Amino acid sequence: MPKLGVHALVWVGGWSEAEATTAIESSAELGYDFIEIPLLDPWGVDVAMTARRLEAAGLAATASLGLSAESDISSEDPETVKRGSDLLHQALAVTRDMGGTHLCGVIHCAMMKYMAPATERGRANSIEVLSRLADEARKSDIIVGLEAVNRYESNLVNTASQAVKMIGDIGRDNVVAHLDTYHMNIEEGFVAGAIRAAGPHVGYFHVGESHRGYLGTGTIDFAASFRALAEIGFEGPIAFESFSSAVVDPKLSTMLGVWRNLWSDSRDLAAHAKAFMEAELLAARDTVARSTTAG
Ligand code: MN
Repeated sequence: MPKLGVHALVWVGGWSEAEATTAIESSAELGYDFIEIPLLDPWGVDVAMTARRLEAAGLAATASLGLSAESDISSEDPETVKRGSDLLHQALAVTRDMGGTHLCGVIHCAMMKYMAPATERGRANSIEVLSRLADEARKSDIIVGLEAVNRYESNLVNTASQAVKMIGDIGRDNVVAHLDTYHMNIEEGFVAGAIRAAGPHVGYFHVGESHRGYLGTGTIDFAASFRALAEIGFEGPIAFESFSSAVVDPKLSTMLGVWRNLWSDSRDLAAHAKAFMEAELLAARDTVARSTTAG
């Protein structure tokens, strides 16, 4: 069965020792396998403290981030690309030193609304930086995930097929497609088909509702997504992502446009999400097994 995780912003908006402890211990108490830690400012993370707290709680970790306009590796400006490359390599070092397994998210371009399409040169810059990042990540057995996000958060990778094309151009087998039900609901015409088509390239998965609140209270067809994951034999990490104005990260929440209160009880939300995902995983596995077994 795939491992289940929860994004740290379900619990806390910062990463002081008190906040890290709350997020890590709460995730472990609910039986999650891992926590996804945002690294938008990888120089601001106390790595030793984080590693210690994870170890004490027996919790695994992954890391994610979105680049900004100042660190956009799909820029045509060499200085901006360099800043982005430096940031990604620092994030990789933090991921490694805290014992993380994956570095993913919008690491291929800035996480923002672009006012123009991606350029060929910008895309080539992104591929070049990500190739070197993947080579460095391989030394620590870290998987690099490119998140396909909606058109208001990237102009480079909006669909699973674009992620797969980008992975092919990077040409490193530790680079995977990071898919997210919230974004696929906006950009894919046929979500299950997109998952099946990306098949073995799918290496990281985000579960989020259409409004990013409680699972099952929006319009996403989770059964179809989980069945497609079961069909492709997906065993990678699945992380629950949800955002509310009740828990705010000054950088991430504004970039994601988290203006509304969709929940205020983190523990109730996270417990509900875990039970929901487990039920979907079991139902999907059973359904797929029955449909592929003769007699
Ligand atoms: Mn996501």
